Amino acid sequence: MKIGFIGLGNMGAPMAAILAKEHDVVGFDTVAKPDGLTLAASAAEAAKDADVVITMLPNGAILRAVAAEIHTAMKAGAVHLDCSTVDVESARAVAAAAEAAGLSAIDAPVSGGIGGATNGTLTFMAGGPKAAFETVTPLFDIMGQKAVHCGDAGNGQAAKICNNMILGATMIATCEAFVLADKLGLDRQAMFDVVSTSSGYSWSMNAYCPAPGIGPQSPADNDYKPGFAADLMLKDLRLSQMAAEAADADTPMGQAATALYQQFVEAEDGAGKDFSAMLPRFSTRKRST
Ligand code: NAD
Repeated sequence: MKIGFIGLGNMGAPMAAILAKEHDVVGFDTVAKPDGLTLAASAAEAAKDADVVITMLPNGAILRAVAAEIHTAMKAGAVHLDCSTVDVESARAVAAAAEAAGLSAIDAPVSGGIGGATNGTLTFMAGGPKAAFETVTPLFDIMGQKAVHCGDAGNGQAAKICNNMILGATMIATCEAFVLADKLGLDRQAMFDVVSTSSGYSWSMNAYCPAPGIGPQSPADNDYKPGFAADLMLKDLRLSQMAAEAADADTPMGQAATALYQQFVEAEDGAGKDFSAMLPRFSTRKRST
């Protein structure tokens, strides 16, 4: 298969590299020029002869601009597979533009981070026509371990932001509960042993425990180096709140989690730290009135 790959940053470069082992990949990025990959001079050139064009870009505005450039260059019937995390509205607008240009579009944001991209173990949540999803499934199989078809265009992004809204809220709840336990004199290991096997369990507690030295290895054991950066959690929470506003959905926990991560990243020392560093943050604070 001929693949154009646009956006060769932290995620895109390793995803393109893993695909290039089995397919003919031509990449483009305005800044990054990773070694070992055939590079084009523009996004349109990378897209020209491709059966599938993958985009892995920072946000919806950039995705829309790149889509406008590549859709006119792509051959009829080709698939635009966007793996970026963007707002649902941009994903749906790009899908409509692709359809109008005689193409198909799939939005398939990922979970699994840079480690998943490097090892080919990402999870894809995809929206768009089933036939196009089936066309790109062999590529999901190379880059990931699981791909779920979530329905029409934009539903991949919807699944991603709903998942991450739950994740942000449960991580905060887990961190504040650890700090309450500390202050009540409860040992962290005992807290983990009880909660991880009781009704308070969650991925945040059981698989990614924010307390160092407790549970499986996690960024807490590596001085809270990401992992999944608090900045990226803030991005996803903001997308969830944009979507909630557009859909008139009441999401008070998501709203509170967004405000807390915003404060942590923009007004405190959370930028560049793992999102589980909310635990030491709460440890240093007293009850707000
Ligand atoms: P990144 O900033 O490292 O990479 C984005 C790349 O896009 C950069 O290399 C940039 O130069 C390039 N770019 C920007 N404008 C461009 C244009 N007009 N044409 C071509 N290239 C352009 O970001 P990343 O960490 O690789 O993340 C990419 C996407 O994946 C984001 O939407 C992010 O939210 C999502 N994501 C990231 C992670 C993670 O752990 N990093 C995890 C899940 C999802």
